[in-house]
Order: sequence, then structure tokens, then C-alpha cells
Amino acid sequence: MSDERQPELPPRSRGVIALLEANCTVCMLCARECPDWCIHIASHTETVQQPGAARPRQRNVLDRFAIDYGHCLYCGICVEVCPFDALHWAPDFGYPGTGTPSGDGAVAELVHERERLADWLVDVPPPPPLDPAAEPAPEAATRRPGGPARPGGFRGRETT
Ligand code: SF4
Ligand code: SF4
Repeated sequence: MSDERQPELPPRSRGVIALLEANCTVCMLCARECPDWCIHIASHTETVQQPGAARPRQRNVLDRFAIDYGHCLYCGICVEVCPFDALHWAPDFGYPGTGTPSGDGAVAELVHERERLADWLVDVPPPPPLDPAAEPAPEAATRRPGGPARPGGFRGRETT
């Protein structure tokens, strides 16, 4: 990965979009809001019976998540609308080559599947620090003393 990365690229560049698959609920919001229809998602539902639950429930299982960078506008709408923080900008440009010397296949190579999107997670920068002058979040105000903190989510690439 590092050999594909420009050292001078600012950490918050809109390079590529990384997918944190564990956060994706297959809600399809990103695919529907993308203005250029370049997000391809396929899924199926499974029936899950939790121990002790009265009824089984349905769960979406991701089969395919791909982004066609040949059409991507880098608008960031998909990253913004994802309700579960599953999509993140990474300062990479790890696109493959341009196909054969004749150019054949170059466009197809710009479609990146979930495995490649997951690889880019390692370069996602951590979120910026909170503004110390900001008002506390409403959730913090209603948290019970000694209650559990919000479960930890994806925190981006570790910095040294
Ligand atoms: S950045 Fe914009 S164009 Fe690219 S995949 Fe996301 S919504 Fe679509
Ligand atoms: S909006 Fe987020 S959670 Fe929904 S399908 Fe897209 S990446 Fe997954």
C-alpha cells in the first residue's frame, strides 16, 4: 500500500473510498443517493434465531459491494449519507494500471470490489479532535453516572 501512496498527499484527501464492512447494514442509502450510480451492492437476507428470542429475525448479508471509479465524481455524498460510518475517505490512489498496452480493460479495472475497499481502511485518518469549546453532546448529558461508554467504533489509522 505504501508504495502506491504519495507521501505528500494530505491525510483528508478524497483519494479512494474505504469500506468498513462490519458497519454496513446493506441499507442501500449510498447506492441510491450516488448521483452517478457507481455503487453496486448485492445482498440476500438470512433468518436468524437468537437464543431466547420469541421470533426469528431477518438479517441482510452483503454479497457484493463495489465502486466504479470510472464514474465516481468524488462528491462524497455516499460517505456523508451512510448512517453507520461504513464509508471513509482514504488518501490513496491505488488504482490499477491502465489495462493492456492497447488500453483494453482499463475501464473494467476501475471497478473495485469489497476486498480492495477494505484494504484501504488502513490509511483512513482518525477523526479530528473535538472542539474543546463545543457544547457537550446531548447523549453525554443523558448518560447515567458510571454507565457504559458508547461502544468503540472504527477510529481510523493509528497515528504515532
Ligand atoms: S463519491 Fe459521489 S459519485 Fe463517487 S461513489 Fe460516492 S456518491 Fe457516488
Ligand atoms: S449507506 Fe452505509 S450502511 Fe448503507 S449500504 Fe451504504 S455503506 Fe452500507
